[in-house]
Amino acid sequence: MKLGKEDLSKKTTIRIGPVVNWIQIESVEDLSAIDTYKKQFSGQFWIGNGSNLLVSDAAKNLLFISLSGKFNLIEYDGQTVIAGAGVKISTLLDFCIKNGLSGLEWMAGIPATVGGAIFMNAGVGVDCILNHIKSIDCLIDGRIAELREFDFEYRKGIERKILSAKFEFCKTDKAQVYGNFEAARAARIKRQPSGRSFGSIFKNPRGLYAGKLIEECGLKGMTSGGAVISERHANFIINRTGASFDDVYNLILEAEKRVYEKFGIILAREVKIV
Ligand SMILES: Cc1cc2nc3c(=O)[nH]c(=O)nc-3n(C[C@H](O)[C@H](O)[C@H](O)COP(=O)(O)OP(=O)(O)OC[C@H]3O[C@@H](n4cnc5c(N)ncnc54)[C@H](O)[C@@H]3O)c2cc1C
Repeated sequence: MKLGKEDLSKKTTIRIGPVVNWIQIESVEDLSAIDTYKKQFSGQFWIGNGSNLLVSDAAKNLLFISLSGKFNLIEYDGQTVIAGAGVKISTLLDFCIKNGLSGLEWMAGIPATVGGAIFMNAGVGVDCILNHIKSIDCLIDGRIAELREFDFEYRKGIERKILSAKFEFCKTDKAQVYGNFEAARAARIKRQPSGRSFGSIFKNPRGLYAGKLIEECGLKGMTSGGAVISERHANFIINRTGASFDDVYNLILEAEKRVYEKFGIILAREVKIV
């Protein structure tokens, strides 16, 4: 277990954030030690790959908890896959391709960890990660608990401290898994803007697209300092040149205000603002 400092402008995909207190948890034994730091910091924040986060300077006094070591392992006994919460989705997909395991190919290109994806219930179209999970090990009141039944909805997953998950895959031909993965990857490249971002800013309101609503308010290409609302997809903010927290936050507020004024719709944020 290592306690130190990390620069969140290097640890988040939007490349914004202060230097924060950071602890690397490597095993279940380390977990019990986290509590010893409770008084030292104003709070704790479990971080995955930082791909859905916008972090302000106010987070300087928090302790960021990152999983590594044993939480980065994948176990497979020929039937069941158990992945640690720190495993990157890209690593899990490589594993699935090598072993001919189908189910998550649609996640190609989502820069998440297993833990972050379960917390957020990451998804594409009508599918989501929690459709493919049998059980989840979480830390609840200092103890490890296995959740076998859980409620989830669109982009709202299991809001617990997630340690690992047991997946349900379909054993099939490796070439087919690879083909599905490549098709999903290509489709993503086509529809999604490149550049530093945290993915979608807002959840889609039922039956509508947040990006389309923002576009219809004429906000595509709007800038604030170094941040811009993508010309390609209005539900993305891109950190073009050294954007600050405020630059991005101003664009979020503007999009919320303009969509409400024009359509009377309150957009729900998908990005987690810390
Ligand atoms: C280019 C790009 C494309 C994206 N495309 C998609 C997409 O197609 N679909 C989609 O759903 N999302 C997408 N996202 C958003 C993002 O990847 C997902 O929300 C993802 O699930 C976040 O995972 P993470 O590991 O990065 O979590 P983080 O961003 O680090 O954290 C997100 C939340 O999860 C919590 N968390 C993380 N790990 C744990 C843990 N072990 N235990 C408890 N809580 C934890 C954090 O506290 C935080 O509240 C995209 C993002 C980018 C940058």
